[in-house]
Amino acid sequence: MILMDGKKLQEEMINELSEEVKSLNGKPKLVIIQVGNNEASNKYINQKIRVGSNIGIEVEHIKYEETVTEDEILNKIDSLNNDKEVSGIIVQLPLPKHLDSYTIVNRVAASKDVDGLTSVNLGNLFGKKNCFVPCTALGVVEMLHRYNINIEGKHAVIVGRSQLVGKPLIACLLNENATVTVTHSKTVDLKEYTSKADILIVAIGQANFIKEDMVKDNAVVVDVGINVIDNKLTGDVDFNSLTDKVYAMTPVPNGVGRMTVISLMKNVIKAYNEQNID
Ligand code: NAP
Repeated sequence: MILMDGKKLQEEMINELSEEVKSLNGKPKLVIIQVGNNEASNKYINQKIRVGSNIGIEVEHIKYEETVTEDEILNKIDSLNNDKEVSGIIVQLPLPKHLDSYTIVNRVAASKDVDGLTSVNLGNLFGKKNCFVPCTALGVVEMLHRYNINIEGKHAVIVGRSQLVGKPLIACLLNENATVTVTHSKTVDLKEYTSKADILIVAIGQANFIKEDMVKDNAVVVDVGINVIDNKLTGDVDFNSLTDKVYAMTPVPNGVGRMTVISLMKNVIKAYNEQNID
């Protein structure tokens, strides 16, 4: 089995992107807006700050108390949208319930939306136009390319249809000429679909959910899930039961999560370049 190693690819891409940043006239800057003190969010933000600094990207972390009003955040986003020093802005999700994620995320200017989650960027992704591709979907496709996994003509089955992961993956895989099936919690007889996948991508948030009998021989399996079991990170795929069956698979940790972070940095550099065309 080929282990699709996100840690190794991230290191490779940190080197590539830091060379690219050195060749620029200025320094790309990412601003991360966080509300509250979600433990998982704190970890993800620390990773983004670390990888950004390894590449030479400035990362500013703005952290609000849980009690912040929607207007305060919207005003902040407006001022960052107008700040020429800021290349990219992300709002770390999830937000507390009293805040409307859709309104807040969509306030980010499309040209600085390096998470690719505004309606403008998602629309352009589905229209196959220039856009910021959401980072996890971008990272999954990059990983498949770098491991020379052919996507065109393959049957890709996505488990999970979230706005953040599943839906952007539909567009990305269609744009790569896969035949795409998307499944979710209301799918009847899930195994019927997963067992027909050449490329199976799982993003549901249920530890070890995908078992050996749900996967076709020699499939490529991409595990997006991140679950904490007994203080250890575990994916949505029962990794050990599949190692002798599949052609290639991602581990958790050090799989897709690593690709998500590096793809964000790729988007920040893209934003910088598009804002600084002479
Ligand atoms: P989400 O918004 O909770 O969506 C979960 C999706 O999975 C929903 O579409 C849901 O279906 C579906 N689902 C849940 N249980 C299912 C089941 N038993 N069978 C089939 N479908 C099922 O989650 P998300 O934001 O997409 O995240 C999914 C997982 O990926 C989480 O573990 C998250 O931590 C992880 N994640 C990882 C990265 C990374 O970089 N590696 C990035 C983002 C998220 P319905 O729509 O019908 O409810």
